[in-house]
Amino acid sequence: MKFPICTFDAKVGVLCPSCEARLKNGEISDADVEASFKLAKLANAIPALDKLTLKRAYKVDDDYVLVFNQGEARQVISNKQIMSKLNEIFGKVWITEQTGDVRAQIEYLMSPVRILTVNMVYLPGDERHIKVVIAGFMTKNFPVDLDKVKRIIKAIRNDEVEFEFEKGRAIRSKAVR
Ligand SMILES: [Zn+2]
Repeated sequence: MKFPICTFDAKVGVLCPSCEARLKNGEISDADVEASFKLAKLANAIPALDKLTLKRAYKVDDDYVLVFNQGEARQVISNKQIMSKLNEIFGKVWITEQTGDVRAQIEYLMSPVRILTVNMVYLPGDERHIKVVIAGFMTKNFPVDLDKVKRIIKAIRNDEVEFEFEKGRAIRSKAVR
C-alpha cells in the first residue's frame, strides 16, 4: 500500500527526516501520519488493501476521512471486511477518493444515499459553492449526517456545500441567481 508518507515509515511507525520536514512545513498533516501508520498495519492482514493508495487523510471532529487514489473508493466501500476493520480501528470513518469529479467524491461520502445532481454554482466575485440535490425527501432516520459532509467537503476541497432534497427542502438554502 502507498501512503502520503514513505511506505517504509508507515510500516515501521516512525517518520524519516524528509517526512518529518514535510509534516513540519504543513505539506502533510498529523492525520496523514496517523492514518498511514494504522492502515499499514491493516494492509498486512488484508491483501485487497495492499494494492491501494491513500492520498490524504483528514480528521473532522472525531471522524477520520480517508481519501484514496482515483478509482479506489468503490473497492474500499464495497468490501465489507475492509469497512468493518476500518470502523474498528478508526472509529467513524468516511471514504472518498482524489478526483476532479466532484460528484463522485460526494457520492462516495454519502453512499448509499442517491444523489440526483451535483452542480458548482458560481456567484459574483470569486465565490462558489456546490449544490447537491438528493433524491426523495429528508426522513427522520436519514442515514448521513449532512452537516458533517459539509465540514468534510470544506476540509478536503475548501468548498461550501448546499443540500436540497428533490421533494422539499429540509435545509434552508440561500437564493441562487
Ligand atoms: Zn519518509
